[in-house]
Amino acid sequence: MTQVPIVCAPHPPDWPVYDREAIRAASRLIAEGRTFDYARGDEIARIEDSFAGYHGGGHALFLNSGTSAILSALLALDIGPGDEVLCPATTFVSGITPVLLAGAAPVFVDGDPQTDTMDPEAARASIGPRTRAILVTHLWGHPADMPRLMNLADRHGLAVIEDCSHAHGARLGGRLVGTFGDAAAFSLGTGKMISGGTAGMLLTRDRHLYERACLLGHPRQRSRISVCDPDLAAYANTGLGGNLRGSPVAAVLAQSHLDRLDKLIARKRANLQRLSAGLSGLTGIEPPWTAPEADRGGWYGFHARFNPIALPGATREGLICFMKSAGARVAPATRLPLHREALFRDFRAGCLPDGLLPMRRGVAPPDQVTKCPVSDSIIDRTICFPAGVFHEACPELVDEYIAAAQAAVETFSQRAPGMTQSLRARCSRKHVKTE
Ligand SMILES: *Cc1c(COP(=O)(O)O)cnc(C)c1O
Repeated sequence: MTQVPIVCAPHPPDWPVYDREAIRAASRLIAEGRTFDYARGDEIARIEDSFAGYHGGGHALFLNSGTSAILSALLALDIGPGDEVLCPATTFVSGITPVLLAGAAPVFVDGDPQTDTMDPEAARASIGPRTRAILVTHLWGHPADMPRLMNLADRHGLAVIEDCSHAHGARLGGRLVGTFGDAAAFSLGTGKMISGGTAGMLLTRDRHLYERACLLGHPRQRSRISVCDPDLAAYANTGLGGNLRGSPVAAVLAQSHLDRLDKLIARKRANLQRLSAGLSGLTGIEPPWTAPEADRGGWYGFHARFNPIALPGATREGLICFMKSAGARVAPATRLPLHREALFRDFRAGCLPDGLLPMRRGVAPPDQVTKCPVSDSIIDRTICFPAGVFHEACPELVDEYIAAAQAAVETFSQRAPGMTQSLRARCSRKHVKTE
């Protein structure tokens, strides 16, 4: 038997999408050979000023990636060998790897059961004598519990770095993410809501931190322009060793998204709220939970959850298989929580192969046996919807996704008399390929 396609409306192209104006601006730079910038030319100045302006002020530093933004923040905060940084178990890997590059040690903290963002109580329990900072991700656009994390940081004298790479324009209690901590890092690359292909931004209200970060990655003109502290300015010619400059071509592409960020967010939010509302009526597939005081901004991901207790006849793989055969681009979560990845697991155990991370030489791993049962159980129940395509108004497509999910639930529920045995057997056997 063949499964009737349910999702038939065309999918919009995967994000990022650039308008004609952005393509023209990028082409002009290429035609003029202006593909790099040692100083702070118009394109870089404009995106830094408008990015800081959008966030109500502060200093913005345009970089070549979000990873570079996190590394810059860590080094600018003087975090290095001997220091520990509290990190979420669930995030993108390069949200954490800069901790290793800085020579410090990540300590993984379990997630909150509803959002899988860093659980403040678990964070408190993970603080030790070497803890220097909290590096927190606003996961899939949902802001972490910043009031409690900031309170914890204040009480223990810890720095806070917000990784806002999933959460451009997200808010908690009306306040934009990226404005709570000492520094915020944004990826402005890949499929992020603001994307120049590969780029990043560091945002901070602390002038000294900004200047140190600038010196780290911007030798010559840019540091001569931006570094005023006389103790630092002496090193402007050489910088401190990194080349983390972003390209003006990436800047104009990212600028085109930043200029209409609120409009982009509104469109995506309308789609994903509609999807959430539709899924919330089903038994066994739960839409992502959003706190009443939270706004997910760019909603980088849409991770629904299979509830095996509500739908005992189903498996997550079976539901995904059914929905895929109905034309929906759903997938299981592909990444492990990071405490289970070989790199971090072996690092913690003190058994990384020789020479693999020379900056870690002689530095003891944290004496921590990481258990993150909440993040572990969430990942195994996650059903990823293709959030990246829902950036233009497409209510019909959204409704078809809801219908596909509903059909899957009905098919696997015990109450479905019309269910075909063969389909059920096929979908519960088949190994579902990821992404
Ligand atoms: C994308 C991402 C990064 C890294 O950004 P790049 O621009 O790819 O270097 C860091 N943290 C999170 C949470 C991300 O999603």
